[in-house]
Amino acid sequence: MRTLVLWDIDRTLVDLSRMGGDWYREALRAVTGLDLVRLPAFGGRTERAITMEILTSHGIEPTEEVVGSLHKSLIEIATREYPQVAVHGRALSGSAEALSALASVSGVVQSVVTGNLAEIARQKLTAFDLHTFVDFEIGGYGSLSAFRPDLVTEALRLATVKHGRGADSVVVIGDTEHDVEAALHHGFTAVAVATGGCTADQLRSAGAHVVLDDLSDTGAVVRAVLQ
Ligand SMILES: [Mg+2]
Repeated sequence: MRTLVLWDIDRTLVDLSRMGGDWYREALRAVTGLDLVRLPAFGGRTERAITMEILTSHGIEPTEEVVGSLHKSLIEIATREYPQVAVHGRALSGSAEALSALASVSGVVQSVVTGNLAEIARQKLTAFDLHTFVDFEIGGYGSLSAFRPDLVTEALRLATVKHGRGADSVVVIGDTEHDVEAALHHGFTAVAVATGGCTADQLRSAGAHVVLDDLSDTGAVVRAVLQ
């Protein structure tokens, strides 16, 4: 394992941005009986961070039990809605080609660092046939922590155990300042794509080493990762 590539999912590889709010609305009602009146910002944040903010802003103490119940409900809803993901969402331009190109480079291991829950992360990539390129077993997922850099720590730990050695370089690819921060916190390489809520200038200001407009230039993605 020379290079560990940790992909964000939402608005980096796929865009399902119209679905998350509806899932939270239904899950909050199922678990607490409350109507969702305030939806926090989602971009780049972990499921644990979003869940805790929603519960708190609706007057509910975010205990482990309630957070766990909400996540379980979200997984049930996402599983039921799985056929809709490919209908209402889309793979972002160049994502399959970039994943495939990197998968063919010797020494490159690809996984995810995503705010999504593990089950939902797998569903979102499977819906667009992107799942074969990443090793979900060594990913960092949004149930773990509200602090995104913790997800990178976990992914690297799992990858190191699985491959019997650490990586010479770790590259985090994502669409928000939170993704950039998650890389820089550890001194790793941050590659940013301006296909989400942040402009290229914002991503550069956040400290991204490379900023791409999108993933459509496969060669540019590969160069950014292997630099
Ligand atoms: Mg994202």
